[in-house]
Amino acid sequence: METNYDITDDVKREVLLATDLVSLIGAATSLKKTGRSWKGLCPFHGEKTPSFHVHPDKGFYYCFGCGAKGDAITFVRETERLEFPEAVAYLARLAGVALPMRRSGTRVDRGKETRVAEALALSAAFFRANLDRHEVARALLEKRGLSPEEARAYGFGAALDAWDALKTSLAPRVPEETSLDAGLLQKNP
Ligand code: ZN
Repeated sequence: METNYDITDDVKREVLLATDLVSLIGAATSLKKTGRSWKGLCPFHGEKTPSFHVHPDKGFYYCFGCGAKGDAITFVRETERLEFPEAVAYLARLAGVALPMRRSGTRVDRGKETRVAEALALSAAFFRANLDRHEVARALLEKRGLSPEEARAYGFGAALDAWDALKTSLAPRVPEETSLDAGLLQKNP
């Protein structure tokens, strides 16, 4: 699952500060206050005498039995099987912290990059395929000592003697705007 949240160190700190570690962990195992820390049966390994400690003022838990340790994010990742951003989002919801959404521009740009990369791969395939139909270009490569297999492996291609051949070939699969973004096509000034 992908989150659209922008989780910076500041956001992480804010969520951890807003999280009540004792009630979070207390929901998984019952905890008793002993001095400044809380103690209970470890939720990560089977035990009969409590060796699991929660230190709310320091923001972490530690088990002397199995060595499990971490902060609220680690706890949620381990118990809910969540990745880091989802664990932070989970805690933010519990604590009522609003997470900043990732800027939509970033997502649009990423989509554009993918489309441009696809357009470049398609046009490389187009030029490679042309080579099979282009005797002059093949002869030129052969003269330079490249076998057809080598020419293919190195990604050599040929442009047909038609200005709109690439455009026509890409048209069914690539929007013209993407071809322009990729620099494959140019608009007449
Ligand atoms: Zn343990």
